[in-house]
Amino acid sequence: MSEVILKIENLRKEYAETTPLKNVNVEIKRGEVISIIGPSGTGKSTFLRMINHLENPTAGKIFFDGENIADANCNFELVRRKIGMIFQSFDLFAGMTVIENLIAAPVELLKIPAQEAYDKAKDLLQQVGLAEKIFSYPDELSGGQQQRIAICRSLMMEPEILLFDEPTSALDPTMVGEVLAVMRMLAKRNLTMIIVTHEMNFAREVATRVLFFADGGIYEQGTPEEIFDAPQREKTIAFIRRQKFFHYEIFSRHFDLMEMQNKIQLFAEKYGLKPRYTYRMQLCCEEIIYEMIGGCYDDDEKIFISIDIIYSEVVGKADFKILCKGKPHNPFDKKLSVVNFADNLGVKILHSVAENFNHAYEDGFNVIDFEL
Ligand code: ADP
Repeated sequence: MSEVILKIENLRKEYAETTPLKNVNVEIKRGEVISIIGPSGTGKSTFLRMINHLENPTAGKIFFDGENIADANCNFELVRRKIGMIFQSFDLFAGMTVIENLIAAPVELLKIPAQEAYDKAKDLLQQVGLAEKIFSYPDELSGGQQQRIAICRSLMMEPEILLFDEPTSALDPTMVGEVLAVMRMLAKRNLTMIIVTHEMNFAREVATRVLFFADGGIYEQGTPEEIFDAPQREKTIAFIRRQKFFHYEIFSRHFDLMEMQNKIQLFAEKYGLKPRYTYRMQLCCEEIIYEMIGGCYDDDEKIFISIDIIYSEVVGKADFKILCKGKPHNPFDKKLSVVNFADNLGVKILHSVAENFNHAYEDGFNVIDFEL
């Protein structure tokens, strides 16, 4: 079994207004490539920053090579060299050329002879395709080139672990690929890396393990296949499938149909759904509501119908969940009788556009779901 390089115990971070991390526990082994994903504001960046001493934990321990670097007595300056960090915003020294950026720290901090540092820098620049830029200044380079230089600068210190905090999110989309290519190359060399990223395909491809952050810590973790293909917990599923939620409630048979259709329209537009699909969503809602009002309620009876639409951007499908308080009524039963079915245009429409219908009756509620 390979050696544990980083062990995090009961790590907690409180800010005045919020506690993004309540209790994080994890062990990372040498050579692992960890992708950290999750909704924004779940403490992913804070987690990385604590490992690199840019934030102090409120409580907990961070063992790096066996030493608790969260301890006040730890001489972090010695440790920092072994932990490289790449930020969103490149952060090269603007007044220095590329080569000066690369050799400054190794020469001054590690006392490496200048020639040796120079040769090493040249070699690294070659590897990332930027040998020609050795005497350029950062502002003469594109964002993607600057970020590749920033990665080289970290590598000059021969870190034992590299932390990446959204390394591509400040880049023009055309430049994301070149930075990811460099990171991919490093991953193949068994460098230990922890990568906070929004690039889901990359997170999946490059990682040996994926940590999904939510609810104040690691909410779910697993291999890329486990997390991306078969997430187990609710928030992971919603995030991975990029689910969008629509909710509407109806309390009267004279409800405002136009308002509901308008809200569905706005929901659909927000997530870029096609007009034809939007129309079908509206049609399904309208038909099922009138079908249930007709089938579950007497004329003067109080009505409660709630509609949830869960649209998955990844799957490109919507799940409809309809709750209807009242008499049991299965709107899809009519399909059994050809005569009735033909009579009932609404149900016919539903059957022509939606699939996998299901009806159950629980505690006074009709529970209906189907897909579109
Ligand atoms: P993520 O990287 O998952 O988007 P962050 O770690 O950046 O999340 O932030 C987690 C939460 O902590 C957010 O609510 C953010 O506003 C808050 N936060 C981050 N840094 C600070 C800070 N220096 N002071 C106060 N609150 C902060």
